[in-house]
Amino acid sequence: MNVKNRTLFIADNLDIMQGIDSQTVDLIYLDPPFKSGKQWKAPIGSPAEGAEFKDIWTNEDVKDGWYSEIAEQYPHIHQIIQAAESTYDHSMMIYLMAMSIRLIEMHRILKYTGSIYLHCDPTASHYLKLVLDSLFGKKNFRNEIVWQRASGRAKGSQFESRSLGRDTDNIFHYSKSETFTHNKVTQSLTEAEILEKFPHTDSNGRRYNTQTPLFCQPSMGARPNLCYEYKGVQNPHPSGWRVSKEKLIKMDEAGDIIWREGKRPLRKSYAGQYAGKLIGSLWIDVPIAAGKERTGYPTQKPLALLNRIIKASSNEGDFVLDPFCGCATACVAAEKFQRQWIGIDISPDAEVITKIRLDEASEQGALFSPIQISDVTVTSEPPIRTDTESHATQQKKLPNYAIHKNYLYGEQEGFCNGCRDHFKIRNLTVDHIVPQSKGGTDHPKNLQLLCHTCNATKGKGTQEKLIERLKTQGVI
Ligand SMILES: [Zn+2]
Repeated sequence: MNVKNRTLFIADNLDIMQGIDSQTVDLIYLDPPFKSGKQWKAPIGSPAEGAEFKDIWTNEDVKDGWYSEIAEQYPHIHQIIQAAESTYDHSMMIYLMAMSIRLIEMHRILKYTGSIYLHCDPTASHYLKLVLDSLFGKKNFRNEIVWQRASGRAKGSQFESRSLGRDTDNIFHYSKSETFTHNKVTQSLTEAEILEKFPHTDSNGRRYNTQTPLFCQPSMGARPNLCYEYKGVQNPHPSGWRVSKEKLIKMDEAGDIIWREGKRPLRKSYAGQYAGKLIGSLWIDVPIAAGKERTGYPTQKPLALLNRIIKASSNEGDFVLDPFCGCATACVAAEKFQRQWIGIDISPDAEVITKIRLDEASEQGALFSPIQISDVTVTSEPPIRTDTESHATQQKKLPNYAIHKNYLYGEQEGFCNGCRDHFKIRNLTVDHIVPQSKGGTDHPKNLQLLCHTCNATKGKGTQEKLIERLKTQGVI
């Protein structure tokens, strides 16, 4: 991992993730904004860099670079994005493209034993699931967690509407492979469930049941070492007792066995010793962040939600990444369970909120051990990849020129942009008008088609010099 534990990046997460080494992150939780315009900005190196959101989310800017990259390298995602445009609208297409390009990076930096949890709502969830299936593989879809974030009642004007109240979020869990970290997560029983599951009360007021048998089932076969007599009682079948004689004596001395004349003895199982029930994918027991926990951040997720995810899908020392970390709930949960973390948020406010939250959690003793504000590194600089496929080579491969070539061929109507002769498409090459070595980008506005001769003549020179030379040669 080429990023230090406890690093908070204030930047576009795409730029940051492109700088993180492949297969270094154990768990990614993301709660991306949906169509919340201002939080996005143009990719570095694009002509729109530094531009405001509303100026860049147009076909001419974002679409050309990413769209063609996705079309070439991820044709299935390309089809999904197109389908989103025709079935929903253009904004969904733009949203999916922005998400896909980021999910591609997340998939790359995730370890093979890692997991990703994508938190969304039904507006985009079905579209996002297609992208995730395509990227992670349907075999690696683990769960769709449905989290009830509000009470189920429709209120106010919703009574007028003819739909039910919308009170749930969807969290998709995908693993990168079939060998992934999974820790069992249990949940305590409700009051009513305790009464039902543990119907008896002993003299000390402890709830218990007698459902766990003391004898092994005959189907378990003969177990000679568990065949013994105690207080004149023995399993008539050679499958024997459930426990060793020493353990049985201890249980008896503790008063945990009920002896019955002529019947099998019963074992008391106490509610207080119950490990909890395994949780399913419907989460109705995690209330929204409230009271002291509330930071005022609009889409704050409760700590209990992140605690559960982090416990289930990571181990101590693992790296947790939240690329839309907002008010740092995932970072606090990671500290609590001794995980390492990286947070990314485009808003400079995240720095203050993160520090306040970690500080408060430290003071309240909510973290595994208190941390100092100085332990957190805050930066806007993308990391530099140290693995073989560097950021620079990755960038050079993009975008895909085959798509641009067709587009440019149409634009130039088949003529070379130097000598003005007409050529078949295969005899033209894609050229950077301002060479890449001089800072020219892959944006279509910086691309043109030249014939092989003109391309060779231009070399790393400027377009002006090419035209000058062609004039001198009498070509034009
Ligand atoms: Zn030419």
